[in-house]
Amino acid sequence: MINTVLGKISKEKLGHTRIHEHILWAWTDNVRIKFDRKTVVSIILPHLKELKSIGCDTLVEATPNGAGRDVSVLKELSEKANLNIITNCGVWDGLDYNGAYIPQSIRKKSSHEIAEEWIDEYEKGIDKSGIKPGIIKIGLGDNDVISDFQRVFLKAAIITSKYSGLPILSHICSSKSAIEIVEIVESENLELDKIIWSHADFAFDDITIIELAKRGIWIELSWHTGQAEEYNWYIKTINRMRDLDLLDQLLVSQDAGGFHEGKIVSYRDFYTRFIQECVKNNISNEVVDRLLISNPSNALDN
Ligand SMILES: [Zn+2]
Repeated sequence: MINTVLGKISKEKLGHTRIHEHILWAWTDNVRIKFDRKTVVSIILPHLKELKSIGCDTLVEATPNGAGRDVSVLKELSEKANLNIITNCGVWDGLDYNGAYIPQSIRKKSSHEIAEEWIDEYEKGIDKSGIKPGIIKIGLGDNDVISDFQRVFLKAAIITSKYSGLPILSHICSSKSAIEIVEIVESENLELDKIIWSHADFAFDDITIIELAKRGIWIELSWHTGQAEEYNWYIKTINRMRDLDLLDQLLVSQDAGGFHEGKIVSYRDFYTRFIQECVKNNISNEVVDRLLISNPSNALDN
């Protein structure tokens, strides 16, 4: 079963799933002064309705606490757009934001203390709402460096995943860090199929992708899928994974949406560009359905 913001559903009910998108990214305290809840809902809702109308049934909202997560808004949007939305527990410390999205309250905590908070959200719900996370979302290891605090919350994610069975959606824009993170997860005895390497396409490094997929992690292509100039690398990598019998570990999404001062990155390009290119290049509908339906449901089930 899988937690959505409207309650638990079976993996068969997820349908066509976008495994890594955003709705409220960057809707942080200073932005909330300018855009209140009602305005936010009115800006975002048409985008979600459009997404639903082009065939999406489920959206995984990968915005953690501190970066804009607000489960009561997600609940309202899920009801109004008739779209399953999955939220998360976790923390994001990616790119060059220098920890801007890390909540103050966890900065000095140990792995066990942080895990305790996340497990509490899993057991009782987030912000007293009763809404429970369906994934653990973390962001770390960019620029080839995993900081001390990132190691602390990686361990918290591992503890939470072991307890709950939730998968860890890990934003990692570095092959070097991805390899190191896989080693840490292995040394902590968490099954590698609980780790999703988000944005594995960041550096177009198919050698590391194949190497880590062979070890058992999920590969998520979601960094350039909406706006790549051409998609040859994607077609080649998908075909290569199929030939190596690794296609059951492949996920695709767009990392779109967000709330950038009211500007939303449309979810549409993923279909009009990426998926269309796949189909044009003879990636069969059966494979597309695996990437968008059965693989996400297997990755999320717990
Ligand atoms: Zn993201």
